[in-house]
Amino acid sequence: MKLIFVTGGVVSSLGKGIVTASLASLLCSRGVKLKIRKLDPYLNVDPGTMSPYQHGEVYVTDDGYETDLDLGHYERFTDITCSKNDSISSGKIYSTILAKERRGEYLGSTVQVIPHVTEEIKKSITKSSHKDDVVICEIGGTVGDIESLPFLEAIRQFKNESQFDTLLIHLTLLPYIETSGEVKTKPTQHSVKELLNSGIQPDVIVCRSNQKISKEEIQKISLFCNVPSNAVIPSYDVNSIYQVPQLLSKSKLDDLVIKKLKIKPIKAKNLTVWENFEILESKTKEDLKIFIIGKYVHLKDSYKSLYEAIYHAGIHNQANVMIKWIDSETINKKNVNELLKSASGILIPGGFGNRGIPGKLEAIKFARENNVPFLGICLGMQLTIIEYVRNVIRLKNSGSSEFGKYKNNIISLMTEWNLKNKKIKRSKENDLGATMRLGAYPCFIKKNSLASKIYRKKMISERHRHRYEVNPKFKSIIEKGDLIFSGFSKDKKLLEIVENKNHKWFLAVQYHPELKSKPFKPHPIFLSFIKNSLAHKNV
Ligand code: GLN
Repeated sequence: MKLIFVTGGVVSSLGKGIVTASLASLLCSRGVKLKIRKLDPYLNVDPGTMSPYQHGEVYVTDDGYETDLDLGHYERFTDITCSKNDSISSGKIYSTILAKERRGEYLGSTVQVIPHVTEEIKKSITKSSHKDDVVICEIGGTVGDIESLPFLEAIRQFKNESQFDTLLIHLTLLPYIETSGEVKTKPTQHSVKELLNSGIQPDVIVCRSNQKISKEEIQKISLFCNVPSNAVIPSYDVNSIYQVPQLLSKSKLDDLVIKKLKIKPIKAKNLTVWENFEILESKTKEDLKIFIIGKYVHLKDSYKSLYEAIYHAGIHNQANVMIKWIDSETINKKNVNELLKSASGILIPGGFGNRGIPGKLEAIKFARENNVPFLGICLGMQLTIIEYVRNVIRLKNSGSSEFGKYKNNIISLMTEWNLKNKKIKRSKENDLGATMRLGAYPCFIKKNSLASKIYRKKMISERHRHRYEVNPKFKSIIEKGDLIFSGFSKDKKLLEIVENKNHKWFLAVQYHPELKSKPFKPHPIFLSFIKNSLAHKNV
């Protein structure tokens, strides 16, 4: 079994996820079968309960697991569908161990980090991978963190076991010191020492740098860090993350990996998708302003997949989309017109809790009344309906039970509207983890609707992450005006898409389409939204 580990040193945010995803993409293009896994040292069982401000967006897999946002990169760069087994945190490892301990499965032994925690880590890394040629594991955090020590120890043990061929890629930063005009290798040397402290020697060092790395510097890293000079791979800053696969291919990272691990690819490398995307990226003709009204607007990673999905759709429409992020708490009745007047399209993303809701409702009203293309996602769809019911249908005392008690809870928990759906299991009230509708569900599209024009399919599958649903009891009341539902669960009880039949382009969905967009396969909803926003801009 062949295992590739990717660790990071010197500083965080070097783009380990992108390097991992790019390498995976290069190997996949040669027909290598692989799994990509993320190992995170934090003690949360999964990132589902973490604030997007702390850890960026929570990415959801088809099989309904809340995972690290790096899995989003893995899926966007390849055709691989990740699963819950591909996101492993210390918290998940420890909760498995503690449950086993309570069941008495350790037969009286003292449960310890070595061997019990490391054994469990190793099991998670190799789990269900017998059909794969390679498993690539990205280790979260930076070497030297206390939390990541058991992961490094597991790697050390793997390296020592004859049934595994392992390769460790260490990603570092070569900082450029302007006053001396030099690129510095010392931090790289230190971080390799840090790895050696854990008993592991990297096989390949990938160096991030915004300056050209000279032959001498490569030689120096090779000498001090004990790797051959052809295994010191420069990774220069590029304009777009989607150019990294080509960059690493030029640096021969994949050739090196294939040689060192004796992988037998079944076909020649093919970079066409990346070359084509780069050509498209260079062909953008016009700027387009899309306004996103959200809560976590100060950290771009909070809406990572959304940002990427809009980027993909922009590139495929030859548009350079400029996203204007607006904190919904800053919007009110008085300033909404002024704030949003230059928007060519307005988007309300998913979210939780009642902070900033009035501002979002104002933005939806503005888009609806001014015929500005509008896309609502998850919470954005729930608010789209509330706005309409309150301002047009004028149903008194209506809202979502997420925000308070209303006589007419248009949006509420399924348990509140008393319909049993066996597939959705909810755990105890006080347990916030896994109490949501999570993962991919089929959705059936109404004929002759905007949704059917967009998807050109009768049935689609999209990923969900929410607790609340539109109460179907209110369907006919909501549909009295311009809104119609155009996407349903098989039993028609879950209302998944709503659109405004008397508007230029106005669509809101209960699921998260952004989780399925890829640079070479942009999501049809975003393609259509951007296309219509461009048309709106140019009227
Ligand atoms: N807070 C809403 C719910 O739980 C919406 C969630 C979301 O937008 N992802 O239903």
